[in-house]
Amino acid sequence: MDSEVLADLLGVLIRNRCVNDGTPESGYEHRSVETLAEFFGETGTVFEPHPGRQSVLYRVQGSDPSAPRLMLLGHLDVVPADRTGWDHDPFGGRVHDGFVWGRGAVDMLNVTAAMAAVFNRYLSGEAPQPAGDLLFLAVADEEAGAKFGAQFLAEHHWAEIACEYVLNEVAYPAMRLTDTPVFPVNVGEKGPFWRTLESTGTPGHGSQPYGTDNALVPLARAMAGLAEAPAPVGISDEWREFVDGLGLPDEKATAWLDPERIDQVVEDLAAESMGLARFVHACTHLTVSPNVLQSGVKSNVIPEGGRAEVDFRALPGQDGSTVDDHLAKVLGADRDRIAVAPVMDHEASSSAPSGPLWEAIVDAFGRLAGSRRVVPTLTPVTTDLRFFRERGAVGYGVGWYDDRIEFPEFLGMFHGRNERVSVESLHRTYSLLDEIVEGFFARV
Ligand SMILES: [Zn+2]
Repeated sequence: MDSEVLADLLGVLIRNRCVNDGTPESGYEHRSVETLAEFFGETGTVFEPHPGRQSVLYRVQGSDPSAPRLMLLGHLDVVPADRTGWDHDPFGGRVHDGFVWGRGAVDMLNVTAAMAAVFNRYLSGEAPQPAGDLLFLAVADEEAGAKFGAQFLAEHHWAEIACEYVLNEVAYPAMRLTDTPVFPVNVGEKGPFWRTLESTGTPGHGSQPYGTDNALVPLARAMAGLAEAPAPVGISDEWREFVDGLGLPDEKATAWLDPERIDQVVEDLAAESMGLARFVHACTHLTVSPNVLQSGVKSNVIPEGGRAEVDFRALPGQDGSTVDDHLAKVLGADRDRIAVAPVMDHEASSSAPSGPLWEAIVDAFGRLAGSRRVVPTLTPVTTDLRFFRERGAVGYGVGWYDDRIEFPEFLGMFHGRNERVSVESLHRTYSLLDEIVEGFFARV
């Protein structure tokens, strides 16, 4: 596969501007479904639960009906981007200095494009017929909860998209915490537990606030408390496997696995790399991010209502009760004044790092990168894999990058500024996925 063809496909996907702002009318994924039809030279099965919110499925039949099915799963939507603070147009999708620039370049249109290129080898007959079915599914609405995308398909069209193995995001670059770089592969993700908090008060004149029932005050106290209170620590099996795989010196590894010392580890890391500190903190704590706070209408009116939104992310082993216990503790006496409602409840999910797909991944790195140091990694973000793991499928996120962007900076590009991927990395991810698909079907 020519790198230029890959960079072109990614550029078009970026320029299609499938921006998902959380409203049903955004997204416009139909544009990229059309791009894929042009790329493959044929149309797939299109699902459209809301006008414009399209997902598309393609399939290459396997030779052995009893062999497991493998899906390449990519999302087509991206989060909004403002031109401010970017060195190049976030929707230009052009190559500058060897990088394709734009919103979606790493989350995750790069992987979606690489997957399409791998799939096309099978669809066009260039690669031999696989043992089991190979599916390519490009979905809408990953960035806003997936109700027009993977969730909708899993709930209403499972028979069509059913598979035993899935490759998806997050595709991380190598980590260099010791002299030997390791390749992180996403095997599990934290569970989003989103909550709204609502307070009510009594309106009055802002000139005489004494003894009034101001709805903003308990909510503001709650937000500050949630941001500052130490949140529950969790050392999961997934975290253990990750730390074991890093090959850290014993003393360091022990500290990284000690719930009593992990906060000090995070603090020490922050002095060197805030990106890495955030990652380690998120992988070992229930995280609590108070992100929306609305109250009041005018400078001289005591507010009668207030509303806040908080983003909790639970580790494997934590659940809704971990979240609600923590919330109750922080709210304290304000519990009676604030109504809490769930918006989203998803427990963490993971797949064991074993079996034919895992082995194919390790082999592919060994063959292409010359190292089998693959580390099962927990990701703090939510992906579409949860809908597949819930239905028994094994799912991982994997990619392969050159060294031009290090792991901590890479994490900052997700939903951030100057999102970009080198053309070389795009081609590497394509080669790796191609090798994995071939290796997987050779094993099953
Ligand atoms: Zn993504």
